[in-house]
Amino acid sequence: MTDLQLIVDLHKSARRQGPGGEAETRLAIALTRLKPDPELRIADIGSGTGASSLLLAQELRAQVTAVDFIPEFLERLQADAILAGLGDQVETHLGSMTSLPFQPGELDAIWSEGAIYNMGFEAGVADWRRYLKPGGVLAVSELTWLTAARPAEVQDHWEAVYSGVDTAGAKIAVLERQGYAPLGYFPLPEACWTANYYEPMIARFPTFLQAHDHAPDALALVEAERQEIALYERYSAYFGYGFFIARKV
Ligand code: SAH
Repeated sequence: MTDLQLIVDLHKSARRQGPGGEAETRLAIALTRLKPDPELRIADIGSGTGASSLLLAQELRAQVTAVDFIPEFLERLQADAILAGLGDQVETHLGSMTSLPFQPGELDAIWSEGAIYNMGFEAGVADWRRYLKPGGVLAVSELTWLTAARPAEVQDHWEAVYSGVDTAGAKIAVLERQGYAPLGYFPLPEACWTANYYEPMIARFPTFLQAHDHAPDALALVEAERQEIALYERYSAYFGYGFFIARKV
């Protein structure tokens, strides 16, 4: 099994594939000031199994297109949408976030929780802007420094993993530079990482390892996740996910 397949296997039964929460998605929706309307067209980019796609469809009565490049995630999302009675509102698109299937100016909102880092925050917000209607909104959650300075260990770790990591102020400046007017920012509370993301993942480790006969690459993946969790426990005062909401100017 490839490393990517192992990651998919560890995460496919999860409700979320990254830090986040229902209350926080709702807060971001409120900050967009969008009102429920069946005409709304929304893209959820890097949707994973679609916790946010389903909530957007439900709360805003919108048509939601969930984009991800992992078929297993989209299959689960499609099944859950049907179970929730949202089958007519949610469609999935298997493909890359760097070549989206939308027409210019087609979307009322672009959503992306914990996924834009895969193409980089600035590259993503710059590229996706064209798909928004004039005045359309962008809501993105992203790894963010919570303080102006931080210990070298955590700084070095995240800079090596994601060169785009920065403070909220710097992210907001990027949005302004790329033709957006900021509408809001908030950091995700710690429970979005622990109760909603890491704890369910820890609970999946035993069955995951058993399913892979404790193979070295499966053990290595679990160990890497454990190290990330330990880093979060140690340094959660300094980094988190920021939720950024902005309007296309
Ligand atoms: N938004 C979801 C998933 C976040 S994890 C949540 O908050 O739970 C990041 C997601 O981005 C994963 O589902 C991964 O498959 C997807 N992804 C990563 N790179 C991608 C790319 N280049 N194109 C499309 N999807 C991508």
